[in-house]
Amino acid sequence: MKNIVKGLVSVFFRVAGQIKPHYTCIVCDQKIPRFFKISSYFEREWKKYGFAYDYDDFETLNAAHYSCPICFSNDRDRLIILYLKRMSDTTKSLLEVAPSYALKRYFKKNPNYVSCDLKRTDVDIQCDITNMSVIKNESFDIVICSHVLEHVENDREALEELFRVLKPQGTCLILVPILKKNYEENIPKSNILLSDSERWKFFGQRDHLRNYSQKSLITLINKTCFGIELFMPREEECIKFGIKEKSVLYVLKKV
Ligand SMILES: [Zn+2]
Repeated sequence: MKNIVKGLVSVFFRVAGQIKPHYTCIVCDQKIPRFFKISSYFEREWKKYGFAYDYDDFETLNAAHYSCPICFSNDRDRLIILYLKRMSDTTKSLLEVAPSYALKRYFKKNPNYVSCDLKRTDVDIQCDITNMSVIKNESFDIVICSHVLEHVENDREALEELFRVLKPQGTCLILVPILKKNYEENIPKSNILLSDSERWKFFGQRDHLRNYSQKSLITLINKTCFGIELFMPREEECIKFGIKEKSVLYVLKKV
């Protein structure tokens, strides 16, 4: 039934708009005329609270081509699936922390997919990423942890837990909000003591405890036992799949 709905929506876009489908969503595999741009909500709040950056200042945030009109995947989801498809890794045992709704649907047919979250009830396991004692050591080939660490007080402890639950040679895919310019200079020291409006001002979201620069993220990862590779899609893949140029997926290896 869902496939019929997807097909009808796709046909509607093609016929009603007389628009050629220029793009492909790598998550739902549909050809589409465009991706939806990101909501202006954050930009409005950032102005209100004096956050010093805008969408273009973030690495891996395609504000102009943000979500798929069919499966609602965002550009981060598409980057992750692009990597996994290229590695033929989509059917391995996989843990997704704080799952994206589009990816959770995507992995529904994978019997080895497990989702977890601190509070959500639509997941397989409820647990704290800094103490996932319900999950045995070396349980998963792949862990996806996208836009989670910036919410966690002790992000190093979280990474160490992800390392523990990964099998040897396993892969952990990390994305966090990364600001491209002059970010370290503006990081307050004791960030968890800030008020809601200060977190908006410094980190661009009420429940964020920090943003990262590429340097600060790599420094953090280097404090753990993970090896690290950067995955950057080719220019033609960025255009076709609605991924911002120079987007980076942080591929952590348990080596
Ligand atoms: Zn899609």
